[in-house]
Parts: sequence; structure tokens; C-alpha cells
Amino acid sequence: MKIPKNGQDKEQLFKAMEGFRADDADWRSGRTWGYVYNAGREAEEVAKQAYTMFLSENALDPTVYPSLLRFENEVVGMVKAHLEADEGVVGNFTSGGTESIMLAVKAARDSFRARRPEIKEPEMILPVTAHAAFQKAAHYLDVKPVLVPVSDQTFKADVGAMEQAITANTILLVGSAPSYAHGVVDPIEQLGQLALGHDLLLHVDACIGGFLLPYFRRLGAPVPDFDFRVPGVTSLSLDLHKYAYCAKGASLVLYRDRELRKHQVFSCARWTGYSVVNSTVQSSKSGGPMAAAWAVLNFIGDDGYLEHARGLYEATQKLVAGIDASEDLQMLGHPEMSLIAFASDTVNVFHVADEMAQRGWYVQPQLGFGGSKPNIHLSVAPSNVPWVEDLLADLAKSVAAAKQLPPSDLAATVAATFTNLDPAALTPEIFSQMLGMAGMTSVALPDRMADINEVLDALPAEVTETLLSTFINELFVPPKD
Ligand SMILES: *Cc1c(COP(=O)(O)O)cnc(C)c1O
Repeated sequence: MKIPKNGQDKEQLFKAMEGFRADDADWRSGRTWGYVYNAGREAEEVAKQAYTMFLSENALDPTVYPSLLRFENEVVGMVKAHLEADEGVVGNFTSGGTESIMLAVKAARDSFRARRPEIKEPEMILPVTAHAAFQKAAHYLDVKPVLVPVSDQTFKADVGAMEQAITANTILLVGSAPSYAHGVVDPIEQLGQLALGHDLLLHVDACIGGFLLPYFRRLGAPVPDFDFRVPGVTSLSLDLHKYAYCAKGASLVLYRDRELRKHQVFSCARWTGYSVVNSTVQSSKSGGPMAAAWAVLNFIGDDGYLEHARGLYEATQKLVAGIDASEDLQMLGHPEMSLIAFASDTVNVFHVADEMAQRGWYVQPQLGFGGSKPNIHLSVAPSNVPWVEDLLADLAKSVAAAKQLPPSDLAATVAATFTNLDPAALTPEIFSQMLGMAGMTSVALPDRMADINEVLDALPAEVTETLLSTFINELFVPPKD
């Protein structure tokens, strides 16, 4: 693969690129339940136009592009008002939930380094339902993640278990509003009391729900307080590229006050180049995402968001009723927003997901972990709302079809073969053997994913992680010619 000697015709390029999309998930059809949160063509056009308008501007230095500083401060201001947050709350625009979470963990770590330097090995307490981004932050920032079980009925954080997990090294507690997997809101008020009682910080991961939950409350859903109105909450993450329908690369990290936020900022005057002062992880960054977010918030407006929320609310209720009516499927927990998870005791859900794929739907399989059985997750987006009945009808057919498949002892075989495998000893041979058991001869994915999911589900988490990392390390290899 080489850079072509002569530049190519742009029409030809765009045509080729359009062709590359052939196998991509078709989210416009409303049959993809996850990944894309779209509020219709018009909002999408607004995002695109605003994005390209500020594509080239660089938010590296807010004093050089005051327009970008303005977008960022106004977007934070609008969200602050939406959450009815106190005057002192501040925040920044980031590239996504993961970056927001990383920054909140860094701010927590560094504020404790300043305040409690005797803590050399800081720990944060995570319900097992907390997003994996916290474990990523822990990994990058050398903070120890302490995983705590949740209720296996409600899938909400167990405050008592979290209290038990507090040690002299604890710096941060985490709760979700709601959790991604099950869509339930952790008991934030109690976590706030726990944090205050032990002089700890509390981050609320409202990445997926922070924007939408206030609308659900206005529609009459029983939404508990989850934000800065709860005493003890010190930081909060909220993604705009989910239920605010902004272009991807848009999230906020908010802090109760500037005193804590100052630990997020990085500056460096010890090199020969320009003075570096970064509020977020990225340094050079496009003005596109923040301009698009500003434009989309203003374009859709409060009434528009409320109307979208109404559709999501009703769609989710219908989905839950449909699952509850099924003899084979059970909801995991009682979802409080627009994310649901359901499992089965009578049929393999990974086969159900494959059967759904055969019928043109993308639904998300989730592996079992910490009391949560293997399940299927749906995130409802506005584009999915008209398709609830069709989805439920095909789900019933998929369950029936999956039940006809012969039982497999794959999970048991895999578990027996690899349970004691030391992840560090995952040689290329063992890797191929594992792929082979999942019916794969190379890193190319087969049509049916059930075997792969079963293998992943059956292995101990550390082995699954090594397997996934090995897979990705094989997948991202440039073409030879
Ligand atoms: C999506 C999500 C994240 C991570 O956000 P990214 O934008 O994918 O980095 C974190 N927490 C929750 C609850 C989420 O739903």
C-alpha cells in the first residue's frame, strides 16, 4: 500500500469510500440498537455543517480561537442549567465518555496527592456495573480499581459492600446514572453520604443518562436525583454524543468547583516550544465537535429533546412489556431510562443475537459477569422508536429458531481446557487453537458470532481480555500491497 504518486480525482475517491460502507451497520434503518444516536436528518445536517465549518480551527489555544472557547463555555452552561447545577460547577468539553472519566480520575488522584500525600497507592471503588472506562483510567493512571458486587436482583450498587471496601487508600467512589449494561441508576444519595462520611470524592457516571434523565423525569418517570444537587457528588461525566444527538467526539466532564477541576489541567513550560496548557487530554483538537454540539443543542432545543424523550420512554416501556410477556426471556433489573438487558434460562442468548442478525437487526450481546448472566442489550435511539413491534416480532421468531439449534458443549469444553491458563502464556498456537474452537480460521469474523461469544463467556476474564487484545493486535495490520 503506497500513497498514490499522483493525487486522485475526488469524485472517484468519494465513490470508492461510499462503496467501503457496504458491510457497515445500517443505523439509518432503525434496525441497529446501539452505537449511533441520531435525531433525524435535519439535526444530522446541522451537526455536519457546523462540524465542517469549524473543522480546521484548533482548540489547542483558546485565546487564539475565542469562538471555540465560547462554544465550550456555552455548551457547559446549557448543560449546567439543564441539571440545575449550583453556580460554582465548572466543566470541559472532551472527546467522549472515556476521556471525561479519565480526567475525573486524574483530578481525583492529583487532588489526593496534594491533600493526602501519605496515600501512595490510591484506590477507587467501582460497582461491577461501572463502565470499563474506569478500569481503563485505573490502568493508565495507576489507581487501583476495587470491584464490588452489585445486587443480583436490581443490578444497582450495593452501598454496604462499597463501604466495606473502603480502606485507608481509598480516594474515589463511583456510581452510574444509569449504568450502561442494565440501565439502572445507582443509589447516588446514599453514595453521597458515604463519600461525605469518609471524606472521599464521588464521581457520577452520567455519560449515557445525564442529558436524558431530566427529560424522563419531566415525563413522569420516577428519576431519583443523581447530579450535583446530591450532597457529596464531586464530579460527573455526561456524553453529548449519546442522548444529546451530537456528532461523535462530544462529552462533558463537570466538577463541583474549580478547586477540584484545577487538578485536571496540565501545563508545561519546560521544553523549547510554545507553552503548553491543556484542559483535557488532547492538545491539538478540531473545533468541529464542539461547534457541532453547540449547534445541535440550539437547533433541537428543549422542547425538541422532550419530544424525542417521549418517544424513547414509550418505546422502552413497550419493549419491557414485550420481554416480560415472553416465556423464554427475562429482564435483568428494572431499567430506568432507555437501555435494557434481558437474559434467558431456556435459550442461548448468543444464538438469539445471531438469529436477530440474520433477520437484519443488530442487538448487543453482553457476556456474563459478577452476577449478571449472559444477556442481550438494547440501547433505544430515536431512529429505533418506530421499530419496536417489528423488533419484538422478530425476537420471538429468533428465540424459536435458536431453540431448534442443537445444544453445544463448547462452553464446557473451553472452560475445561483453558480455565487454568496463565494469560501471560497465551502463545500464538494457543490463540489459534482458541479461534479454532470458536470456528475461526483467521481473524476474519464469521457470520455467526455465538461460538465466539460462548468461548469469551466461558473463559476467565483475564484470559478473555488477553484473547481480545491479541485479536485486536492481529486485526490492525496494514495491507501488504
Ligand atoms: C458510553 C459510556 C461511557 C464511555 O463513553 P465513550 O464515549 O464510549 O468513551 C461511559 N459510561 C457510560 C455509562 C456509557 O454509557
